[in-house]
Amino acid sequence: MRIDILTVLPELLESPLNHSIVKRAKENGLVEINILNLRDFAKDKYRSVDDYAFGGGAGMVMMIEPVYRAIEKLKSEREYDEIIYTSPDGEQFTQKSANVLSLKNNIIILAGHYKGIDHRIRQHLITREISIGDYVLSGGELPAAVITDAIVRLLPGAISDEQSALSDSFQDDLLAPPVYTRPAEFMGWKVPEILLSGNTAEIGKWRHERAEERTRLLRPGLLKEE
Ligand code: SAH
Repeated sequence: MRIDILTVLPELLESPLNHSIVKRAKENGLVEINILNLRDFAKDKYRSVDDYAFGGGAGMVMMIEPVYRAIEKLKSEREYDEIIYTSPDGEQFTQKSANVLSLKNNIIILAGHYKGIDHRIRQHLITREISIGDYVLSGGELPAAVITDAIVRLLPGAISDEQSALSDSFQDDLLAPPVYTRPAEFMGWKVPEILLSGNTAEIGKWRHERAEERTRLLRPGLLKEE
């Protein structure tokens, strides 16, 4: 899989995508992540990527030209399955969206900034708009990192124990069961006995029951959606 992220602030993306599971997935060739600086596609010598909003009002707007040139260059090199714009008014990003996107070969994620992007980009170049929640961030870099992380950990081989991703929250519309590690007792607080029993079948059953219980308690809507 290949993910190209278009941004005016590449620095913001470097750290989140260079550690842990995402880093290993890149090293093992499961995914190639390219971060492109939109300033490299600017037309003027000041490398401008934003301009005043037509009609007035506060806040700058990301210009269409650098974005167009970046997307056209990428599209001339390969076919893209999705060209995503991160936006607070987009479809809500969920584990299901991550599952679907993890099956694609090539995607572009455009991180907005300032007051947003020239609307013509959304009308003519973008195939999908994704929000990571009902709040407004300063830029689309963190959303792009969130989306990329959620996708990459689903790629076969990204997590050593493949079962691990499958038993995460929201897979099968269930929240994850509680987990514990050593010591088995701390300050008198004990780990559930069953987990120390070595009985894999019983442990599996216990985990499933706890997952259902927590889902009913914390997110009953997930069960109803079925
Ligand atoms: N004026 C815009 C918000 C601009 S915030 C509005 O009211 O909709 C600047 C950029 O941050 C956006 O272009 C978008 O790319 C990104 N962004 C902010 N909040 C986001 C969210 N919840 N999900 C995805 N992207 C978001």
